[in-house]
Amino acid sequence: MLILVLNSGSSSIKYQVRDIAGRNDDGVSRNDDGVSGDDGRNDDGGILTEGLIDRIGGSDPGPDAVADHAEALDRIDAAVSAVLGGRELDAVGHRVVHGGERFSEPVLINNEITRAIERLNPLAPLHNPANVLGIRAIAAKWPTLPQVAVFDTAFHRTLPEHAWRYAVPDELYSRYGIRRYGFHGTSVGYVSVRAARLLKIQPENFNAVIAHLGNGASVTAVHAGKSIDTSMGFTPLEGLVMGTRSGDIDPSILIFLLRQGLDADGLDELLNRKSGLAGLAGDNDMRSVVEAADGGAEAAQTALSIASYRLAKYIGGYHVAVGGARAVVFTAGIGENSWRFRALVADRLTALGISLDEAANRAHSKQARVISTPDSAIAVLVVPTDEERAIAEATAAVVSPG
Ligand code: AMP
Repeated sequence: MLILVLNSGSSSIKYQVRDIAGRNDDGVSRNDDGVSGDDGRNDDGGILTEGLIDRIGGSDPGPDAVADHAEALDRIDAAVSAVLGGRELDAVGHRVVHGGERFSEPVLINNEITRAIERLNPLAPLHNPANVLGIRAIAAKWPTLPQVAVFDTAFHRTLPEHAWRYAVPDELYSRYGIRRYGFHGTSVGYVSVRAARLLKIQPENFNAVIAHLGNGASVTAVHAGKSIDTSMGFTPLEGLVMGTRSGDIDPSILIFLLRQGLDADGLDELLNRKSGLAGLAGDNDMRSVVEAADGGAEAAQTALSIASYRLAKYIGGYHVAVGGARAVVFTAGIGENSWRFRALVADRLTALGISLDEAANRAHSKQARVISTPDSAIAVLVVPTDEERAIAEATAAVVSPG
């Protein structure tokens, strides 16, 4: 099936066309043993084309100006048609950031679903409105093309109440929906299944701690294949030290700063855009921070130490939460590529009996792989994520189940 995967932002749309093979009865796509093919073949997951349309709705008129999401879609249509050579798309899969409490699975979109996503706008003011624009633009252009919404929060709908509820008066939850939702779910769900298969464990019996470490970063406790706790909360600000986000801080710091005269926008900017690695080391990119640390920059060394310590604390806690993890899994930009950061984290986990195979940890690879020693009490894995593939497969499964 030909699936167009869309990630719509307020001023950009990322797209990819995937050719998705059929599915087995267990809902698992063929040719995926979690290690990209038995023969080590590099399985690209059927990417036919991909691209990014940005600066949508910008103020500078010019030949590259894109007025709105509808015009962006015309450009995507032109680019995609050139590649498909007469073949037609079977469906569109949308990455939707917030599914609130309602959506625990990918769903076929109709008007009612679109309105439900729109009603969640207050919970994800930067993301859901853009997703809705993308959905409406497709519906206007190709009214009969099936559209599926795949939610970043859905994998975390299995969190037990003791993990999702904050210790605040119930009114905050009942009136505003203030609770832990969690994000990165599409990635973590995909990586969890691949990691389990790599270890020859049934995904539904898998207990693990999965660290999605990109520019945004979160860690998830997986018990019996399901999310039971995750470090991002009501918004993606909670938890780990990220590229530009602080992660956990004492909420009283906000109250203190408000009293110093900072307003809501100022706090938002401070904690979401100026903190994390950027705030500590002056750069949000892990490569630069590691380089600076190697060059002797103390601020960068401190940043790495804080970030790895924070993650190690979560891993220890989640190991307990899942009743003993079989694996600690690293994924996304930093998790997949920074052997230095993985080593810093693993060094803080010796109390759990974790030991890394140094050569395996340092080796460059695009494959899912084990990087711990055979006698490590918990396996440590690197499993590349592929959100677009997960979205395309989920979309194909919704559109033609079984
Ligand atoms: P993502 O959001 O998943 O694209 O991840 C972005 C993060 O991955 C940035 O902090 C990058 O610096 C980091 N990253 C990407 N490649 C490397 C690499 N080779 N070594 C260290 N960090 C990397």
